[in-house]
Amino acid sequence: MPLAAHKHILAMITDKVPRKAAHKKEYLQSDELRILQLPPAEPLRAHARALEEALSKDSRTDVKLASNAIAATLAKAFDVKVPAVRILGARPLEVTETSADELFGDYDLETALIRLWMRTALKKKPTSYGTFLSTLCHEFCHHLDVVKLGLPNTFHTRGFYERAGLLYHHVRNTPVRQLVWTEQSDGTFRINWPETMRGRPLQPLA
Ligand SMILES: [Zn+2]
Repeated sequence: MPLAAHKHILAMITDKVPRKAAHKKEYLQSDELRILQLPPAEPLRAHARALEEALSKDSRTDVKLASNAIAATLAKAFDVKVPAVRILGARPLEVTETSADELFGDYDLETALIRLWMRTALKKKPTSYGTFLSTLCHEFCHHLDVVKLGLPNTFHTRGFYERAGLLYHHVRNTPVRQLVWTEQSDGTFRINWPETMRGRPLQPLA
């Protein structure tokens, strides 16, 4: 059964390769797709600067305006329907048997609603600009997968994280780094941050 919403925690681990043949095929397509045609830098970056300011002022209204402006600008550039962005307060904790992860954002596969949380779960501190924008780009990439790229289950693959990373650095105007992946014993991949940060920044592809 497909998930109703794609929840995003900050672990940066790929989903397990699905067993079902059709899902596996979609997963591998997503995994191989490592690039994204990037939209014009402006007015995206102007909206991103407005978002940074809104977060620093801790203004939920302005954060909502800037986030929706980014989503609408991206949707127009990719020629897809605009996903609404809702801004919520403190992050809920996603508690599993082994961990309690903070939820940063999610994307509803049916309504295309993106929800982003502005505050940390425990200390209720404001989310940093980088984390917030990266989550917005992550959720927008779920939307793109579903409505544009023919990837209806929008799995978290290496390709997915790389596309989301390209989009994030483009919108933020920061250098892209080639993500370095470490395969884990269960066949999933985790981003190796020390190795990734050791690499030289890449030129954007588009
Ligand atoms: Zn996700």
